[in-house]
Amino acid sequence: MSARRPFDSLQFAKSGESLSGGLRIEELPRLRDSLRPDDVGVQYRLSGCLAAGRPALRLEIEATVWLTCQRCMVMYPEVLILDNVMPVARNEAELARWERLDPLLDALVADPVLDVAVLVEDEILLSLPAAPLHAEGQCDPDGLALMGLS
Ligand SMILES: [Zn+2]
Repeated sequence: MSARRPFDSLQFAKSGESLSGGLRIEELPRLRDSLRPDDVGVQYRLSGCLAAGRPALRLEIEATVWLTCQRCMVMYPEVLILDNVMPVARNEAELARWERLDPLLDALVADPVLDVAVLVEDEILLSLPAAPLHAEGQCDPDGLALMGLS
């Protein structure tokens, strides 16, 4: 199965199949500011599974994203390793019922034409820190000087 051909997410979840591949920056327009063309791109693996008896998609992602440190305003690379299991509801009503039982549930509504690139984009965007910072002591000295912090 071609990674980029849209597919039925609920059927895929039930099938227990998996697919994996890589996505290039051009395929992830909403992440343009966080990815660099010279990096290896985004690797993913999507599998159908069961989560608490519900059909689910397990999405594993490995990507290097570039974040702007909010202290020195210099960009730095961060390796993201994500592994999320998302139950797939048949429709909005089922999703609402699941969310009433578990408000923190990370579930999707079935999509007959799911594009894996959009799903990968969503997951990466959700996992980016709101206020990225270098580790303590790792800030760029020139950046700190420009910010008047050194
Ligand atoms: Zn910094």
